[in-house]
Amino acid sequence: MRQFFVEGKLQLNDTVSFDSDQSHHIRDVLRMKNGDKVRLVDRENGVYLSGLVFDSSNVRAVVTEESQAVEDGNIICVAALIKKDKWELMIQKACELGASVIVPLVTKRTIIRLDDKEINKKLERWNKIALEACQQSNRTRICRVERPISLQEIEKYRQEVSLVAYENEQNRNLRETLTSDEITFVVGPEGGFSEDEAAFLNEKGFVSVSLGRRILRAETAVMFVLSVIEGLK
Ligand code: SAH
Repeated sequence: MRQFFVEGKLQLNDTVSFDSDQSHHIRDVLRMKNGDKVRLVDRENGVYLSGLVFDSSNVRAVVTEESQAVEDGNIICVAALIKKDKWELMIQKACELGASVIVPLVTKRTIIRLDDKEINKKLERWNKIALEACQQSNRTRICRVERPISLQEIEKYRQEVSLVAYENEQNRNLRETLTSDEITFVVGPEGGFSEDEAAFLNEKGFVSVSLGRRILRAETAVMFVLSVIEGLK
């Protein structure tokens, strides 16, 4: 079933009016018809079923019942900031592959440095990319991109399974550590993690895992971890 993210908080019997672009998409691209059912997801990740109502100009949706988010688990991707185009690609692919939250990370070797003003502007752009990717992949939860953190703040993202993809880890492989669907994983920047950063993360309860013999680019590493998690479901 097609689903759309809507502003604000929904409740039963609400009517959502789609703007002209969305109405065109629903009517002329998706070729949906009056009375068709669509799922609506509000800003608090509330999920509702609704029926489409077509009038002369735009399309509306009337909320008919509450529904359940069809996504379980909570996958937090803490990724060191990397160069713009790869970073934005990584956001899009992480959303398609089921990340619940993306947390940008500043480490010793991250090349990108953003001041507060730039961060606000970037967050808006990053979350727009995330929303579009979630919409396109028909997710019922919006993956959000949070404010960048330093390694010192990493503990607040610890979950049942907390991993750091460490390129110098020789033994422990990813699959054996995935014993829950509440997972936080950390990926380093183009220059990798320093040894003391990896040791710091281990101290904070993030277990080092290898992603195999080959050295993956950071954006590939994120996609690889999410694909393995999804593949093991
Ligand atoms: N410059 C480093 C590689 C950094 S790759 C080097 O050449 O060794 C960027 C990030 O992707 C790494 O910090 C790590 O988090 C992850 N990564 C890439 N390949 C990996 C592997 N084989 N095992 C574990 N993590 C890996």
